[in-house]
Amino acid sequence: MEAGVAEPKALNTPPKPHRTLWYSDGNIVLSTDRYLFKVHKSFLARHSSVFEDLFDFPVIDGTDDDAENAGACATTQEMYDGLPLVTLAGDKGEDIAHLLRAVYEPRYYDRTSNKTPLATIIALLQLSTKYDFKDIRGDVVFQISKHYPMDFSDYLTTKDSDEESSLFGKQRWECHIPLLAAAFTAQADVLLPTLYFVASGHSMEDILDPSNMDTLPPDCSRTLLLGREKLRRSLTTLAAFLPTYLAKGVKNNVCRERKPCLDIAIYSRSADFVDACFYRSGGRAIFRSNVVGLGKGNTGPRVCDVCCKYVGIEVDKCRKVIWKHVPSYFELKEWGALKEELEKMTT
Ligand SMILES: [Zn+2]
Repeated sequence: MEAGVAEPKALNTPPKPHRTLWYSDGNIVLSTDRYLFKVHKSFLARHSSVFEDLFDFPVIDGTDDDAENAGACATTQEMYDGLPLVTLAGDKGEDIAHLLRAVYEPRYYDRTSNKTPLATIIALLQLSTKYDFKDIRGDVVFQISKHYPMDFSDYLTTKDSDEESSLFGKQRWECHIPLLAAAFTAQADVLLPTLYFVASGHSMEDILDPSNMDTLPPDCSRTLLLGREKLRRSLTTLAAFLPTYLAKGVKNNVCRERKPCLDIAIYSRSADFVDACFYRSGGRAIFRSNVVGLGKGNTGPRVCDVCCKYVGIEVDKCRKVIWKHVPSYFELKEWGALKEELEKMTT
């Protein structure tokens, strides 16, 4: 029984002043679950329209009648150490610390770095949106967009780095779902098509893993699963028609072999093509890994270089067409409109 009593007490530990974000000449105290921040009203108001409105709000004296509501509502005026206390309901102390440090310390956050911890990126994206810190939001969106670009050629460049390469303190693939969830919550539409696209590269089993389903808002996971299916349908169609489509290469005599490669090629791994189609950066490499050989029994020589090059170019044309449709698979505006939005936000 005693342990049962002690537990809620431990959970209700009052927030403590933050070690560094506690300026002696601050004129307002922000309260979160773990930390209190003594900061400057006018400084925050200059960067954030939400804080500006919050600080402008008429002060309600903290009478006993208000005690019940204390902490539940940011507009209930309380005092701490003689200064107005504003409770930031629903925000974690660590996350607010990232935001405030990004505002106060010019070197704390660098939008060109790929080493910013993922938790910091996510906190900055969500809180800069919630409190309307436009500059920080633009910077975080810029930073994420560099690693999840809208241009197909830029996207392929990012694909040259392995999915296991380091990004934001994690392996690249580990960032896809958390960033998708954060961008969705923060309504950063300019990031969504590419994030949905890379998240679609996860297996169904991975996506449905409880850790991912808990991270993704329900509407976001629904859009992801429906869009992933549309994307895969396009890829399956492409894989199914690829041999027929490439027959024009035979007709155009691209091959110098006695028996044109593409006439006798065995497309024995077409199913893998669906998974590999955007995983590798070059159409030629995709083709190489999805054609086993020539002639019956798959034991013959490989497709010649001239044919591989020809196919690579054709596969890339198809990939570009699919990429063009990516936003529509996930019910988003087309690339052109999103690119304009990104330009406005980040310059
Ligand atoms: Zn050939």
